[in-house]
Amino acid sequence: MLNIVLFGPPGAGKGTQAARLLDKYELVHLSTGDILRAELKAETTLGKEAKKFMEKGELVPDSVVIGMIETKIDANLNAKGFIFDGFPRTTAQALALDTMLQKKQLSISLMLALEVDDDELIKRLLLRGKDSGRADDQDQKIIENRIHVYNKETAPVIDFYGNQNKYRAIQGVGSIDDIFSRLCVAIDAIK
Ligand code: AMP
Repeated sequence: MLNIVLFGPPGAGKGTQAARLLDKYELVHLSTGDILRAELKAETTLGKEAKKFMEKGELVPDSVVIGMIETKIDANLNAKGFIFDGFPRTTAQALALDTMLQKKQLSISLMLALEVDDDELIKRLLLRGKDSGRADDQDQKIIENRIHVYNKETAPVIDFYGNQNKYRAIQGVGSIDDIFSRLCVAIDAIK
């Protein structure tokens, strides 16, 4: 299986690039943000609990997110691989993912981290907020908090995969095609 962690701050382009990678490498997309938004829309108990964190730009508790991911992996064990998008977002999540995959004789192949500076991220997110109507993309204060939470709680996940020699930094600025090519070069180098 080809299991990719597509990493980067909010607005780095993970969703856009994930869509292309899924197509090219025939992978299953696991976006915790998308799953949580679906729960929120369906007004499930999980969705109502998650909303309190999401609307402030805080992380949803690890236990909630880890449980959600295992269900999705188990439903797709015959896939060619997975793209984890927006997960893991803490070192505890990364550790739980490794343990979970090990139990199924699977592992992460590569972590591809899109690098984009903060000013560009804020610009992109405000634009996305206008187009998509996503509440957490419309308020600059919430956006800044999400970037702050990323730097504090999520960026350390780089070291987790760095220690396993699986981390690759990818320049996340430029045309969508150019960024996609950079990602493909990194993936094809390990295939
Ligand atoms: P995203 O669409 O990935 O930007 O996620 C939107 C929001 O969902 C985040 O700001 C968090 O509140 C929540 N979220 C998504 N993925 C995770 C995760 N792996 N761990 C904790 N919270 C998450």
